[in-house]
Amino acid sequence: MKGVAILGATGSIGASARAVLRQHPDRFRAVALTAHRNAGALRELVAELRPSLAVIADAPVPGDLPPGPTEWRSGRQALLDAATHPHADIVINALVGAAGLEPTLAALRAGKRVALANKESLVCGGPLVLEAARRGGGALTPVDSEHSAILQCLSGTRVEDVRRLVLTASGGPFREWPLARIGAVTPADALRHPTWNMGAKVTIDSATLANKALEVIEAHFLFGVGYDRIEAVVHPQSIIHSMVETVDGSVLAQMGFPTMEIPVLYALTYPERLPYDARRYDPVAGGPLTFEAVDTARFPAFALGVQAGRAGGTAPAVFNAANEVAVAEFLAGRCTFPGIAEAISDALDRWPNGPVDTLDDVLAADGWARRATNDFLNQLAPC
Ligand code: NDP
Repeated sequence: MKGVAILGATGSIGASARAVLRQHPDRFRAVALTAHRNAGALRELVAELRPSLAVIADAPVPGDLPPGPTEWRSGRQALLDAATHPHADIVINALVGAAGLEPTLAALRAGKRVALANKESLVCGGPLVLEAARRGGGALTPVDSEHSAILQCLSGTRVEDVRRLVLTASGGPFREWPLARIGAVTPADALRHPTWNMGAKVTIDSATLANKALEVIEAHFLFGVGYDRIEAVVHPQSIIHSMVETVDGSVLAQMGFPTMEIPVLYALTYPERLPYDARRYDPVAGGPLTFEAVDTARFPAFALGVQAGRAGGTAPAVFNAANEVAVAEFLAGRCTFPGIAEAISDALDRWPNGPVDTLDDVLAADGWARRATNDFLNQLAPC
């Protein structure tokens, strides 16, 4: 029986994690659950999963809680305590954004296995995350379906025998829209993802393909593969979750109908596998599989993110923070869809890059980029 802490339990990945725990109550027990502000959803989860600890990161603990075995706490320190809970063998980090970095570092330093959905941890603080795992004895297993696919394809293969990693991207809802129409995209249009049902931030990132750039950076740190050997390809059916080409020319792919439950399960059981009841892939019913090159004119945020990854240092943290701010402004109706990439580009152009030696380096870059992006967007005409 493994103890599991779920950071971001009330979100979309949190829901997949709950589904996994429900199918294997004899293997996994929730010991800590966290939410940002959604106390109502957290209460329901606590009633079902009865963890030792429930945390609301940014709101007070509700006053009318029924009696039970769960300790309720609020605040940032309580979130870090959930990430290092003494009974947690595995910490699922399903937080959104750079806010996930410190809990990832804390869990790894405490020697936990981190099932990482929060790709922003590696994007913002990749060198710090790897160092925390090395020193604390913790381990990282990816939850992102692409990185889970690569991990599965790499089984039995040495990293030095990899020629390239090929990340697949659905292409989002605007893959075939005329470029002129993309200027007038609304949040409702962008939230209509063709193949995945996810939280709002990652859904917008999938529409701009900023998400694929975040994933290229994530893959670089997770698998220790240089940027020249990581590619992305559009695969609208989202059946092949990613591929690995080895030096002898073999190409390994991991496939299945889109669901996050299987990658979450694998992140918990790696390198073993457990039976799981999910919709099974049928190649005939699944239909044809098609691929296209990424259109960087249509998706400038992708090229900007990869460029930030190649620049290294704090540039990826600036890319991420500018994107977080611009996406929030887009969702609030204060920024156009193309404005997201314009804001990122402006921040990256003005940032004097430097190394990531400490968490403060990341926090300084992140804070600067948030201010710079807000300033940039405030100067633009309202949309
Ligand atoms: P959601 O928005 O659905 O859920 C986010 C969760 O984190 C919620 O529990 C939310 O609490 C909590 N949260 C949000 N912000 C903070 C904060 N600042 N401090 C503490 N808690 C916070 O996100 P997703 O589940 O979609 O995504 C989570 C991560 O997984 C992201 O990094 C995303 O890129 C990645 N991912 C997601 C996939 C998906 O299918 N959804 C696929 C692959 C990767 P509350 O409910 O109270 O707001």
